[in-house]
Parts: sequence; structure tokens; C-alpha cells
Amino acid sequence: KIKHTSRNGYMFYRQELQVMSAFRSSVEQRLHIALREQLFSLYFQPLVDVDGKVVAAEALIRWHDETLGWVGPQDFIPVAEESGLIVDIGLWVLRHTCELIAQNRDWFDRGKLRYISVNISPRQFSQAHFVEQILAVIDEYNISHSYLLLEITEGVAMENITTAISIMNALAAHNLHFMLDDFGSGYSSLSYLHKLPLKSVKIDRSFVAKIDQSADNQVIVEAIIYISRHFSLECVVEGVETLEERAYFSDKGVAAIQGFHFFKPQPESAFVALINAIH
Ligand code: C2E
Ligand code: MG
Ligand code: MG
Ligand code: MG
Repeated sequence: KIKHTSRNGYMFYRQELQVMSAFRSSVEQRLHIALREQLFSLYFQPLVDVDGKVVAAEALIRWHDETLGWVGPQDFIPVAEESGLIVDIGLWVLRHTCELIAQNRDWFDRGKLRYISVNISPRQFSQAHFVEQILAVIDEYNISHSYLLLEITEGVAMENITTAISIMNALAAHNLHFMLDDFGSGYSSLSYLHKLPLKSVKIDRSFVAKIDQSADNQVIVEAIIYISRHFSLECVVEGVETLEERAYFSDKGVAAIQGFHFFKPQPESAFVALINAIH
């Protein structure tokens, strides 16, 4: 009987794997087309300070496919990463963001926004000539380097920390800075905060959810904020969804807050209108 059950379990597992790999290969096929035919779009999610004033934004890719419908980045970025397509997709995101920045310099000049951040995937970061590529794109659009912020995750730095540090230093020398995204969700230790040349850390959403009701999450978040301050890193929090979560952060000294409580990611036109409307 036990054998029978485990055999069934195995069968289900096999079937699931087959469905998954079928999905994967169709996603990969369609991604090639999306890239060629420019079927991606960029959304922008405003970040606010503790008073609720917009201070920055994060660029987030969106993809609508004719046959697959809306596919979330959570589902296609890993496929793009594995197939190497992420390098071209990442370049598209970077170009598009730089173009938006170039078209709206006054937002930054007038202090409405400090930066717009883009997510850099591990494969993109570790490709040859990453530094040159980033600098070339920024120069092409002739924007101030500090208007763009690069978000990386712990995984990027973990593969080869020495290489990661030298890449980051090379870009920091050009006034291009990094934020460690999803901090606390990976496998790395707090010592990364001190080894990597970072400007800021973004505390992972998992610690922020219901923080007003979780003493454990409060201790974790306060420890991260404390350590960040010691290393002169700005703290950003993501995933603030409720009034209670927002209230919790009102006196914690975080530089920026991101979350549905304030703004959902906006299509580009809505984002442009929103920032233009700020006085
Ligand atoms: P991320 O970089 O941590 O981006 C933040 C994600 O949290 C976004 O999901 C955003 O919509 C979501 N979010 C923001 N506030 C809240 C909130 O209050 N509650 C909840 N539940 N979610 C919130 P999204 O856009 O689906 O992106 C998911 C992930 O996909 C990103 O996580 C990032 O890792 C990746 N990604 C998105 N765009 C790009 C891109 O252009 N390039 C690369 N390499 N990765 C990207
Ligand atoms: Mg991010
Ligand atoms: Mg994040
Ligand atoms: Mg996240």
C-alpha cells in the first residue's frame, strides 16, 4: 500500500514536471518573439518617504503574450535567466528607463525624484563587459549617472564576491550606485552588507507583512536597520500594504517605502502623469 502511494506521488511529480517544462519551453519560445517584436512594457512603482511624499521609483517589466496572456516576471525572468535572453531583456529595460529619465530631466533637477531603479539579474551582472555596457547606455542618453540606481540580489554577489566588488566599485567610481534587493530572503549573511560597496538595502517584503503583529519580524527588521545605519547604508522597505504596517515604519528612519498601500506599479503613461502632477 505504501509503495502504491509513493508510486502515485511519483507519477504526479513526473506529470507536474512535464507540465512545467512544457510551460518553460513555450515561455522561452514566446520570449524570443516578445523581444524581437517589442511586446514588453515597463511599469513604474513610486516609492515614498515616511510622510508619503514620492521620492523615487522602481522600473518593473511586464509582458502580455497573445497566447499565454499576462505572464508575471516571477514566471518568465527565471526562464530568461536560464536561456540567456535576460541579457537582451535587461538591456531593453535599461534603455527604456534611461530614455524616460532623459525625457523627464526636470523631475530630477527639481527634486521630485531622486532616482529610478532597475533590477539587474545575476546573469546580466556577470556577463563580460557589464560595466562598459551600462556606461555606454547611460552616455547614449546623456543622463546624470546618479538618476539611475541598480538593484541586485544577494545571489548576484554570492557567486564570486571578489568579482562582484570590483564590478560595483568600477560603476560606483562613475557615480552609479547599487541597492541590495530582497535583503534577508536569501542565504547570505549580514556580513555582505559590509563587504559590498552598496548605497542602500531593500528589506524583503516577507519581513514587512503584518509587521505590526509580529514581534519576530520587528526584531529582524530593527536589526537590519541598526546594522545598515552602522555601515551608512540607506534602508528601503518593500511590501507595505496596510495602514498599520505604514505606521510601524513612521519612526524607524527608513529612507523610502514601497508598497501597494501607497502605489501599485503604474503603466508608463500613468506614471508620467502622476509625477508631472506633483508640485
Ligand atoms: P522585486 O525587484 O523585489 O520587485 C518588487 C515586487 O514586489 C514587484 O513585483 C512589485 O509589484 C511587488 N510589490 C510592490 N509592493 C508590493 C506590496 O505592497 N505587496 C505585494 N504583495 N507586492 C508588492 P513584480 O513586478 O511582479 O516583480 C517581481 C520580481 O520580478 C521583482 O521583484 C524582480 O525580482 C523581478 N523583475 C521585475 N522586473 C524585472 C526586470 O526588469 N528585470 C529583472 N531582472 N527582474 C525583474
Ligand atoms: Mg527590485
Ligand atoms: Mg525587491
Ligand atoms: Mg521582492
